[in-house]
Amino acid sequence: MKKYKIVLLSGDGIGPEISEVSKLVLKKLSKNYNFDIEIIEKLFGGIAFEKYGNPAPDETLNQCKKSDAVLLACVGDIKYDSLARELRPESGLLKLRSALNLFANIRPVKIRKSLIDSSTLKQEIVENVDLIVVRELIGGIYFGNPRGHITNTKIPKAFNTMVYDSAEIERITEIAIKIANQRNKKICSVDKSNVLEVSQLWRDTVLNFTSKDKNISLSNMYVDNAAMQLVRDPSQFDVILTSNLFGDILSDLAAMLTGSIGMLPSASLNNNGPGVFEPVHGSAPDIAGKNIANPIAMLLSASMMLKIGLNEEEAAENLENAVDKVLSKGFRTADLADRSSEVLTCSEMGKKILDEI
Ligand code: NAD
Repeated sequence: MKKYKIVLLSGDGIGPEISEVSKLVLKKLSKNYNFDIEIIEKLFGGIAFEKYGNPAPDETLNQCKKSDAVLLACVGDIKYDSLARELRPESGLLKLRSALNLFANIRPVKIRKSLIDSSTLKQEIVENVDLIVVRELIGGIYFGNPRGHITNTKIPKAFNTMVYDSAEIERITEIAIKIANQRNKKICSVDKSNVLEVSQLWRDTVLNFTSKDKNISLSNMYVDNAAMQLVRDPSQFDVILTSNLFGDILSDLAAMLTGSIGMLPSASLNNNGPGVFEPVHGSAPDIAGKNIANPIAMLLSASMMLKIGLNEEEAAENLENAVDKVLSKGFRTADLADRSSEVLTCSEMGKKILDEI
């Protein structure tokens, strides 16, 4: 029997609620598909700061490095916003990404037929949406140096540095090419090369590297236009390839095409070593502890983990289908509900999905 060791980081806010559902689902899938999954739970984020004074303790990071994959819920809370930056839960995320060298973030955005009415956009705009955002994750302005505050000026000043070298751009382009080749072979590279030197390097490097694969059709778009096109005609996109900052913003925008940020999974990958699989959403402090969060983004992240991280494709597909079946029967969590839907709590939604596995 195959044996997997995964680390579960439940984190903060709604994290423990959606993680509980994910554990039950993974246990059932492992039984049905005859593999053994050891789920090691570790503290991460605000809760780890409370206990160890560090949002990403070494023990957690070391356990993640030794695992087959990491399933992460979400971190953060307004109460940590006044801490020094390196102590905040979000810095823990950056540390985890760096520690595992997770340079590629993959965010599939696919409209589920049963949820077309949940989108804030018209049905005809969103009905064929099926795109993937490939975002560079450990470079660019979030990591660039120098950064900081300038204190010896009359008015407060602060600055960051957006920096990439061509090797960083090439390795993320390679991932985008691999993904595009499994789909419609179209890559749209998004940058701001009309203004930024770093974006010009991005554009030139992507063009150069992509020209090696004659199957790929490459287009380029400025990020402001890409934001507009995602709302105007999102089905024109197949694979969107972009840098850390632009990818962060565009993938949340793309999330809303599907109806709720509570539906979107993601995978953060390295060329070898464990990946981190996590919902796109944050810790939703406004609804934490109420058992009303949508657990589906985390379940679909678990499905990506099974497929990409553990090579358990059948189990992954079963989980995706179970989610679709429950949604097509009209069951919804509050974030997706309209007047005609039956509104379920987080744990009730988990139970319905479990019953379809
Ligand atoms: P958020 O994604 O937590 O919430 C935005 C809105 O979406 C809220 O109204 C929330 O209730 C709703 N929402 C999010 N997930 C949901 C779900 N599963 N089911 C139902 N509704 C859901 O973003 P925010 O409010 O900007 O940030 C809250 C905290 O999360 C902050 O501390 C932020 O730094 C952190 N954050 C963490 C991550 C992460 O862990 N990867 C990502 C983004 C934000």
